[in-house]
Amino acid sequence: MNPSSEVTALKGVGRDLATKLAEMDIVTISDVLEHVPFRYDDFVTGSLTEAIHEDKVKFTGQVQSEPLVRYYGKGKNRLTFRLLVEERYSVTVTMFNRAFYKAQLKLGEEVTVSGKWDLHRMTISATELQFGAIEGELTPVYSLKGDMRMKTFRRVVELAFAAVESVGERVPDSIRTAYRLLDRMTMLKALHFPTHRKELTAARRSYVYEECLYFQLKLQTLRLGKRQGQGIVLPLHQAAVDEFIAGLPFPLTGAQKRVTEEILSDMHRAERMNRLLQGDVGSGKTVIAAIALFATIRANKQGALMVPTEILAEQHASSLAPLLEPFGIKVGLLTSSVKGKARVLLLEALRQGEIDILVGTHALIQDTVVFKDLHLVITDEQHRFGVEQRKRLRAKAAQADVLYMTATPIPRTLAISVFGDMDVSIIDEMPAGRKEIETYWAKPEQIERVFGFVEKELLLGRQAYVITPLIEESESLDVQNAMELHAVLVERFRDNQVGLMHGRLGSSEKDEVMQDFKDNQVQVLVSTTVVEVGVNVPNASIIVIYDAERFGLAQLHQLRGRVGRGDAQSYCILIADPSSDTGKERIKTMTETNDGFKLAEKDLELRGSGNFFGTEQSGLPRFVLTDPALDIQIMETARNDAVRLLRSEAFWQTSDYDVLRHYIEEQGLLDGERIE
Ligand code: ADP
Ligand code: MG
Repeated sequence: MNPSSEVTALKGVGRDLATKLAEMDIVTISDVLEHVPFRYDDFVTGSLTEAIHEDKVKFTGQVQSEPLVRYYGKGKNRLTFRLLVEERYSVTVTMFNRAFYKAQLKLGEEVTVSGKWDLHRMTISATELQFGAIEGELTPVYSLKGDMRMKTFRRVVELAFAAVESVGERVPDSIRTAYRLLDRMTMLKALHFPTHRKELTAARRSYVYEECLYFQLKLQTLRLGKRQGQGIVLPLHQAAVDEFIAGLPFPLTGAQKRVTEEILSDMHRAERMNRLLQGDVGSGKTVIAAIALFATIRANKQGALMVPTEILAEQHASSLAPLLEPFGIKVGLLTSSVKGKARVLLLEALRQGEIDILVGTHALIQDTVVFKDLHLVITDEQHRFGVEQRKRLRAKAAQADVLYMTATPIPRTLAISVFGDMDVSIIDEMPAGRKEIETYWAKPEQIERVFGFVEKELLLGRQAYVITPLIEESESLDVQNAMELHAVLVERFRDNQVGLMHGRLGSSEKDEVMQDFKDNQVQVLVSTTVVEVGVNVPNASIIVIYDAERFGLAQLHQLRGRVGRGDAQSYCILIADPSSDTGKERIKTMTETNDGFKLAEKDLELRGSGNFFGTEQSGLPRFVLTDPALDIQIMETARNDAVRLLRSEAFWQTSDYDVLRHYIEEQGLLDGERIE
């Protein structure tokens, strides 16, 4: 059967199942084959007598007792029955919300159950039940959507493999031979039904290489294509820029000087600038933006600064204006609250070139916003924008230079391989005289002392953040929630105003709370992590983070960066009762260093990039099986291969590379438009 046939062509897949598959974007048989497991459960299968307490186990046995079902709470139920294992041991099996098995489990029936083993009670809390005996030791686990059941999906995969004889190769033979990669059918089969670890490792390696190669082909096509042209040379008025820098309220740090040079020389070159500026929180990225904007305006062009939230837009506008306006540069602010006449006037001034720099949220990319001659686009906290928004912003000025600023520290090797189409500048030095934030770890039972400490800071006229992971009480999690804590703190800090901020507030409500905090109308701000990255309230000197072990290092570091922005000594108190070793390690690491890059590397070491970067945190592309941090060598190999291929005659002219070439053509990568 042809892999591109629809799933309904498989015997055993009817309309209903096809609909459920479609919800998972699975339409063709090939889609089924490509939906590879994201992990494998590796059960201890040996003998029951060897099973260790609390281990994951998998036993086959005969149903020995009539299953019992107990119903409780909102439609919940528990199924219990006894299983005779190894013809000798009677084991209790419990399963939650699987009442439907009751009718199917006949006495004497052979079943295999897997789950957690309780040695003392001779009980297995099963999460899965299969009819029949054990097949392999590695059970594939798929990510599923909607009503799809794991078992059903596994059956569909089996049907798909039974129906299809071969699939097209995606990696050219020459490369596959050179690296001893598996052919595609063998690879997919091994990923879905690995018989042992070694086979899985080989399959995974082949898959990751393929994924990296395609990713790098895209990236390098963009990068090499970009090098070839367009963009314009911005006349650089070095003397004026020097004067501007000399007039700043502080001398630039060495790192700031270096990145300034990198950026200015990009702007002065014929190619479009496409640069990522990374600098830890507080490292002084805003002033770099100001310098680049200044140089742009001196060359008679306009600039735009796009940020993710209105608060940040206002903050940037009000920190840029005093730096730039003395030079006759007009800074405009466009947010959704600029309405009616004011908006019309602002937009008109922009079109006429009377406004030099426009700061705003994604409102900047609306069609009604027309620049006279936009030449520099800066985005702050770039990961917060969708690709589509960034593309539209770029489209506003085809030749404009683009600078992305981010505080997410991405280790250099990773940045180069994954943001390979961008140049990367790093500010790796803090302004002199900045006081290190002191970070402490407190146990939950020490909370009253922590409050006492907060109180002292409040008495000094400072402000405090109190961060919790949850908005409201959760049934399943025993962690602090913002609402409850807010109520507690209102009582505790009666002499002060205590504000509450969380993701369920509308954006104008959030802005209002934030503004009150900035204006010191509110002294204690209880918040979930929605407290914006980049928010600058220099008078806040203490941040208390509840259930700190629940946060990743990157997030803890971002949160900590909310304080230490003024002259006062600042403090970060992590309240944690870490039961896991990584939790402990993370909290300890936080107390030991303030360096975001060091933390990033530590976090990669502890958890791998998948966790560190979170989902929308980093703007890193999504991969199926590749972990850009752990698979860095394969990524680098693929990058070199991609560059070599793209530069070779053979790639463009021989049929060996048809698949790859078609891919590049299909992606529309050759028409000069850069995409991520
Ligand atoms: P971030 O990189 O987090 O965006 P900011 O640009 O907001 O950092 O800078 C943080 C603070 O440091 C600001 O108050 C800014 O004025 C100040 N700052 C920036 N550069 C220097 C410097 N070279 N020396 C002293 N203070 C600086
Ligand atoms: Mg900033």
